[in-house]
Amino acid sequence: MTLSPLSIQQQLDTLRDRYVQSIGDRIEGLAALWEALCADDWSWERLSALHSQAHALSGSAASFDLPAVSAAAQALVEALAQLIAGRPTEPSGESRARIAEAIAAVRAAPRDPPRVTRVPPIPMAFAAPTRALRQTDVLIVEDDLATGEHLALQLEHFGYHATVMQSLDGFEDAVRAHEPAAIILDIVFPEGDLAGPERMAENARAGVAAPVIFLSQRSDFTARLWAVRAGGRAYLTKPVDIDALVSVLDGVTGAFVPEPYRVLIVDDTRLTGALYEAMLRNAGMLTMALTDPALVMQALQEFQPDLLLLDMYMPDCTGPEVAALIRQQAAFVSLPIVFLSGEHDRDNQLAALDQGGDDFLTKPISAPQLVSAVTSRARRARAMRALLSRDGLTGLFTHASIKEQVLREIVRAQRYHTALTVAMIDLDHFKLVNDRYGHAAGDRVLKGLARLLHQRLRMSDSIGRYGGEEFLIILPQTDGPTALRLLDEARARFATIGHLLDADQEVTVTFSGGVASLVPTGDSRTLLASADAALYAAKRAGRNRIICATCQDATEAPTLTL
Ligand code: GH3
Ligand code: MG
Ligand code: MG
Repeated sequence: MTLSPLSIQQQLDTLRDRYVQSIGDRIEGLAALWEALCADDWSWERLSALHSQAHALSGSAASFDLPAVSAAAQALVEALAQLIAGRPTEPSGESRARIAEAIAAVRAAPRDPPRVTRVPPIPMAFAAPTRALRQTDVLIVEDDLATGEHLALQLEHFGYHATVMQSLDGFEDAVRAHEPAAIILDIVFPEGDLAGPERMAENARAGVAAPVIFLSQRSDFTARLWAVRAGGRAYLTKPVDIDALVSVLDGVTGAFVPEPYRVLIVDDTRLTGALYEAMLRNAGMLTMALTDPALVMQALQEFQPDLLLLDMYMPDCTGPEVAALIRQQAAFVSLPIVFLSGEHDRDNQLAALDQGGDDFLTKPISAPQLVSAVTSRARRARAMRALLSRDGLTGLFTHASIKEQVLREIVRAQRYHTALTVAMIDLDHFKLVNDRYGHAAGDRVLKGLARLLHQRLRMSDSIGRYGGEEFLIILPQTDGPTALRLLDEARARFATIGHLLDADQEVTVTFSGGVASLVPTGDSRTLLASADAALYAAKRAGRNRIICATCQDATEAPTLTL
């Protein structure tokens, strides 16, 4: 089922209509099961099946806004639970009568019209995901034209399109004419030593919405105080550290949105699963719903969810059993598992959590409650995972993690007969950078390269820090010549970036790279070895170049002997 955010309310209404249509059959199924039980030989197993069906009905009816049905089903659940707990050889006529009465009450319960509940608008933070790289407009207001233009050029490399204004004249008009994603504003102008923030403070009252970053030679308390009063989101000093500025820009413009959260839902009632899917998709998440818990292992592998929403009672096994089974596998120990059930009994809830669940949400749950519960847990889980698999300095994947991903991508490429290319890159004469400007300066260059690669490559590409100043990039579904072109563009960009390494000295650094594509009979060892050989060929050929080991038409690639 595909859902577009625009028609979400209609979709929810349709789901509810379908549920209401099906509820008569569900209730008659329950009643028939009970009659069969009374007519044939008494069976505790079938009684327990009846109990879980009643439980499912109570939960789903609550989810679809049928409180009377839900309450009557809950009363039936309790009557059945009492009978099961007593476990006499044969239930007394009195207890049979009580259950028959409870079933009649479920049948008679009004299937109330829905309360008018409108789905709230999409929270901004989860708005539809954008691609990692898109041109984002920035306005630089800087009275020194050379400084402004130099800065604009640097920002281009990181996906920002900057326009420079030399004075505050007509500043408001420029902003109104072409609303930028952010404004970078100087403090000192010919008009005065605090002209930038003073003008901005006036504009805040006039309603200029774009976030402002102040950038100045001044670093004193007064200048900073005025910047805060003018609503400045950040304050950076000149000469600017371009990496720091890009970090701030990324943050305030939201140009680089995280990938949407992936949620796997297991609920034996198909419509309930679809309801939760609709709620979460409306918030921009990716979902997958299963009615058969036996498929959960395969879904975890293939869908790679950030979080699992699990029903408590299902026909063949319980939610806590599924949680325990997942927890016994090392790959999924950190997957957040949240039970979602009509179970209101605190002891049963705690027992379920004991099996490996992380949390318990009770049905019915509203869309905002569900979205917020899922978001906070998924975000925390991602942050935890990132800490484990990400390199502390660059934020890229660690050696172990990227290597594991190469193996996985090779299997995938061979199974689906798709292209796969890897690139190995290494900074040129990096030892010299360290020797001349110090290790901390070298670290800044590494971070700058990581950021540039991150922004120039696609979201589906993985980048890892393979060694000290060596990076490994995986480009799925990409052939050698395409990867060569992409990497060469990144190389050319990087070579023009001035890194501020010394007091006020800008230094350029280059890198070399080797590209290799998977051949049908290849494995990870030969793939990485040929990328590495191409990298060293690039070094030997004079550095600051990319060589492809497997591109036929790459004229500059020498014959490689592995
Ligand atoms: P080539 O062009 O041949 O690659 O020369 P190179 O100097 O870059 O290569 P070499 O392998 O001789 O030196 C790599 C240097 O990278 C030495 C090491 O100190 C530095 N390095 C490795 N990891 C880090 C790091 O995390 N931070 C910093 N600042 N330097 C690092
Ligand atoms: Mg090097
Ligand atoms: Mg090296």
